[in-house]
Amino acid sequence: MSVPSRIWTHVDFEQDGKQSGCLHVPISTDLSAYGMLQIPLVCLRNGKGPTALLTAGNHGDEYEGQIALMRLARQLQPRDLQGRVILIPSLNFPAVAAGRRVSPLDEGNLNRLFPGRANGTPTEMLAHYVESVLFAMADVVLDIHSGGKSLDYAHSALAQRREDPAERQALDALLRVFGAPHSVFTSGSAGGGATTLYAAAAQRGIPALTTELGGGGTLDPAGLALAEQGVRRVLRHYGIAPTLPCEPAGPTQMLQSLGPRQALYAPEDGLFEPLVKTGEPVRQGQLAAYLHSLQDPLREPLAMRFAADGIVSCRRFPTLCVRGDALFNLAGPL
Ligand SMILES: [Zn+2]
Repeated sequence: MSVPSRIWTHVDFEQDGKQSGCLHVPISTDLSAYGMLQIPLVCLRNGKGPTALLTAGNHGDEYEGQIALMRLARQLQPRDLQGRVILIPSLNFPAVAAGRRVSPLDEGNLNRLFPGRANGTPTEMLAHYVESVLFAMADVVLDIHSGGKSLDYAHSALAQRREDPAERQALDALLRVFGAPHSVFTSGSAGGGATTLYAAAAQRGIPALTTELGGGGTLDPAGLALAEQGVRRVLRHYGIAPTLPCEPAGPTQMLQSLGPRQALYAPEDGLFEPLVKTGEPVRQGQLAAYLHSLQDPLREPLAMRFAADGIVSCRRFPTLCVRGDALFNLAGPL
């Protein structure tokens, strides 16, 4: 028997029109014993039709999706729709307000906590609400990410590979419609496993994409434009906003993530000097980076080499690194 969520909202998801409200997440702290974490939410509905769930700010230091969804929330009107759009631009709101990947309330990394817990920490409760309440309404899910403070990403949309042929076809179409330069199928074997929002949606059979549209904890204007146009194209494609103006999708390269075993990690603390850019094709054995010793100026830097052929999907953004930090991830042909 599933435990009901303790999160509530004044927004009536079954009502036509445009509503702006909040998700209320109960919190109890030294200074706010009966407090409510309030997460902005906009719902637009016009009659019957499919529902798009659009989220950003799942990680607080990733900005393209936050701004794209706030702008879309202002621009969209119910008359544009045949169905429903639920927009949550700052899903892990405490992390967004702090400019951090994780929530300062409970150190919760929302994109590692699915399916969440009804009576867990605030971030676990939030994951559980998305999983149990919002996914139940959604016909398509877009969770807009970027690299955050520690990564720089080639512009990509990502979907978890599915065995069912109809689901595969829907995802293939969704990736092409979103139109990122790279469309990457993931296997669920990377850091997030099945605990991410888009993987949790995919496991319920909902067509779901996530994105990586820049990084470094700043705003990439081209990534922002792609977020805005990609979301508009998806709303049109699903017939939710059939006449919404949008630019045609650019070409996309279909790829698969090569996973953590082909990634490069710092073998010791040091200063990371990357020698290739994101989006560049590389060969196995190619020099990837130098890692400079902090302590010994006369020691030659460690030469790091790629473990496989591929395309650089992301690289570490900060120069200072410690043993175990991810330096490069690769994608390869499907
Ligand atoms: Zn993220």
